[in-house]
Amino acid sequence: MTVQAIRAKGRDYLAIPGPSVIPDAVLQAMHRPAPNIYSGELVEMTHGMIPDLKRVAGTRHKAAIYISNGHGAWEAALANTIAPGDAVLAPVTGSFGHGWADVARGLGARVELLDFGKSSAIDPARVEAALREDRAHRIKAVLAVHVDTSSSVRNDIAALRRALDAAGHPALLMADCIASMGCDRFEMDAWGVDVSVTACQKGLMVPPGIAFVFFNDRAAAVRASLDRVSPYWDWTLRADPEIFYQHFGGTAPTHHLYGLRVALDMILGEGLDAVWARHERLARAIWAACEAWGRDGPLRLNVADAAQRSHAVTSLHLPSPHGTALRDWCDANLGLTLGIGLGMAAPGDPAWHGFFRLGHMGHVNGQMILGLLGGVETGMLALDIPHGTGAIAAAAGVIARG
Ligand SMILES: *Cc1c(COP(=O)(O)O)cnc(C)c1O
Repeated sequence: MTVQAIRAKGRDYLAIPGPSVIPDAVLQAMHRPAPNIYSGELVEMTHGMIPDLKRVAGTRHKAAIYISNGHGAWEAALANTIAPGDAVLAPVTGSFGHGWADVARGLGARVELLDFGKSSAIDPARVEAALREDRAHRIKAVLAVHVDTSSSVRNDIAALRRALDAAGHPALLMADCIASMGCDRFEMDAWGVDVSVTACQKGLMVPPGIAFVFFNDRAAAVRASLDRVSPYWDWTLRADPEIFYQHFGGTAPTHHLYGLRVALDMILGEGLDAVWARHERLARAIWAACEAWGRDGPLRLNVADAAQRSHAVTSLHLPSPHGTALRDWCDANLGLTLGIGLGMAAPGDPAWHGFFRLGHMGHVNGQMILGLLGGVETGMLALDIPHGTGAIAAAAGVIARG
């Protein structure tokens, strides 16, 4: 029997950092006839969902919903706060900060980039220094990615608020929580974030298609001061609609809302603290395995400092072409799909094949993570990639004992 024949049945695991594994209960909730969008269950359900979304984001302020992916949420946040010619400060720790900065440039903002490389977190002291230099307060917003999904760097957003305050700078603090909400602890109000953005297909466990912008009174005041905001992206009526359709700037994302309702029930039923603790424990199990493999082989975690690592995605390096070979092997033989390396090397550069990522966000538990790690080890065995022993036992120890 070939190894490949072993995957003929059973469940595959899409272990990429978004879209994440969709719970059956979410899929089942979406499998229904089209609902009435003018009155009844869908309208009631949506109204009930806004407070739950805010709880997940850690805010008592406003929530706007968009039928879009994360890129749309980026644009929505900027469209409501930035006028052409305004400056924004973008401290970047991987690919996604560059992506948000590109959207800002496209909307006419002047972007000041602070690049912290691909393996370490934002240094709040450098952000503070850049803000102190901006005596004229031309910088209107600081765009920070909480978890960079390409490098798996996790940034300290509360420390950025302290940097803004220490510099006495009035810029808005904006956080991209697309890869972290529902995975890593995030507390918008307590951390002093003015605008946060997320999308539904990562920690929120719903197929891609809806995105959220949360904003506080300071951000609302900036919106009110702008001469012109693109009507589709304007968050004003979306957050405070007079008529139901204004929540969405048009037809509601009917089936996504049913899926999201169930996903929010799952998250709040488990409890946010428990959700964050589960992701943290599973992430430490993954790191323990990776460290064991790396003791006698070339596999390396991209982020050396555990305090700067995401609990939802792990970026790894294996010398080219082992990264791609391992992904291909696991996919073909085990039904286990690992994430490609993103932004660590240019596509076409042979070094590109030396990176891959593990997605462990949302609907994941201990047996899935042990299966994921067992799969990676099996792939390294099959491909003769040297690796240290004891990785699975190390992960099991973290899962069993913390
Ligand atoms: C996935 C992701 C995005 C982009 O989201 P899309 O839905 O692909 O547009 C942006 N930022 C972060 C941190 C992400 O993880």
